[in-house]
Amino acid sequence: MASSPDTNSFRSDADTGGEALTLADRVFTEIQNAIVKGELAPGSKMSEADLAARYGVSRGPLREALRRLEGRKLLTRIPHVGVRVISLSFDELIQIYHVREAMEGMAARLAALHMPAEEVQGLKDLLAQHEKQAELQEGRAYFQDEGDFDFHYRIVQGSRNEVLSQMLCGELYHRVRLYRYQFSVTEGRPQKAFGEHHRIIEAIESRDAEMAEILMRRHISSARQNIERHFRERTGSQGPSLMLAAAQGSISPNEE
Ligand SMILES: [Zn+2]
Repeated sequence: MASSPDTNSFRSDADTGGEALTLADRVFTEIQNAIVKGELAPGSKMSEADLAARYGVSRGPLREALRRLEGRKLLTRIPHVGVRVISLSFDELIQIYHVREAMEGMAARLAALHMPAEEVQGLKDLLAQHEKQAELQEGRAYFQDEGDFDFHYRIVQGSRNEVLSQMLCGELYHRVRLYRYQFSVTEGRPQKAFGEHHRIIEAIESRDAEMAEILMRRHISSARQNIERHFRERTGSQGPSLMLAAAQGSISPNEE
C-alpha cells in the first residue's frame, strides 16, 4: 500500500491496483484538482477529519492521497493539525516562468527534430479540440487538462529528452499547472495564446527547430510579461497579493 511520494510522471499514480488504492486514487485526483483550481484556497489549513468528511472516505485512503499530494509539494503537513495547501508568491511565479521559457523553448526545438509525424498530427487534433471550448471562444479562459491533454506537456514528451521530461513533467509540472490555471490573465490572452500554440506546431511540423524554439520562448515570455503588467496595474507593487487579486475576480483562468 505504501507508494513512495511520486516525484515523476502522474502516470505512476494509476498503476498500483487494489481496492483501497483505487479509493485513494479517486481522493487524490479530487483533492489535486481542487487545489489546482483554487477551490481549496492556497494557504488554507484542514484537518484530516474535515477532509475525510468532505470527500467521503476513511482515514486510510485519505492519508495515502495526502502523502502523494505532499510528495508533489501541493500540500504541507502540519503535525497534530492536518495539512496546509501551498501558497504562492509573485516572485516564485515569475522565477518559474523564466525557467519555463528556457526549458520549454529547448523542448520545442528538440520536438521539431524528434517528434514523429503522427504525434504532430495528434497535437494538431488536440488543438482542434481545444478550439471547441466555449470559454476559449468567448475569450474567458483556456483550460487544458493535465498530461496528454496539455499542449505543453505533449511537446516536452515529443522532445524525446528524458532529462527535460523529468524536469518539466515531474514535481514542477503540478506546481506550474496550479500557477498556470490560477494566475494567467487578461482580456484577449486566451485566444492569443491559442494562436501562438498553432504557430508553434506549424514550426514543429515544418521541422524548423530554430523557429519552434523562438516561438515557444516568446509564447511563455509574453505570458510572463502579461502577468507582470497586470500586477503592476492592479496592486501598484509586486507584493504577495496574488491571492487577493484572484479572490476579487481580476484574474481569470487561462493556461499558457
Ligand atoms: Zn501555451
